[in-house]
Amino acid sequence: MLTPFTVLERNILKAKGLSEQHLTVLGELGVNGRTDFQSVGSVATLLELLHGLDPDIAARVVDWALLPTGQPDAALSTPQGESPPLPPISQALVINSSDSTYCVHCQAKQPKDYSVGDLCLNCGLQAEPIETCYWCATSGPGRFCRNCGAAFVVTAELPLALLLRREGVAKDDISAKIGALGEAEKQVLWGRVRRSRR
Ligand SMILES: [Zn+2]
Ligand SMILES: [Zn+2]
Repeated sequence: MLTPFTVLERNILKAKGLSEQHLTVLGELGVNGRTDFQSVGSVATLLELLHGLDPDIAARVVDWALLPTGQPDAALSTPQGESPPLPPISQALVINSSDSTYCVHCQAKQPKDYSVGDLCLNCGLQAEPIETCYWCATSGPGRFCRNCGAAFVVTAELPLALLLRREGVAKDDISAKIGALGEAEKQVLWGRVRRSRR
């Protein structure tokens, strides 16, 4: 009695322990090839379809059937390699949302076409604070110095940035370095700022 399985599939399934009758029943149920086992999906379901089937056989069949096609049967039990790194989609979304600009005076969210230096549509003041560059002392709104490109730090932490600059930290590293400092580390730096002022 023939079923729609290919000769190879039939032989593999029989090697796993399925009988000719099992194959016929599967065919009648609509399982006509290896890919149809994707719909069966689990050992439990296969056991429900084939009453009285030995669970060990069912497990072997499902293991084989759910291997990615093209993968040799022998590779069945090899552990999965490192899973590929997740695409940075979620990170990009987070960055986007934090990219929104809020007015420092009235907290109004600025429109999408807001650009650095624009006045707040709600209160008419410059939406972003004017920062002073720790590197070249130019003042301006936004996140980066328009003169030298350094990333601004908040005014309150300007002395820390100046200290790091004096200590030879690279211009492009100062803002990130301050952002990465823990509270305790900042206190240590503030201590050095105070001593340097004496
Ligand atoms: Zn405003
Ligand atoms: Zn600058």
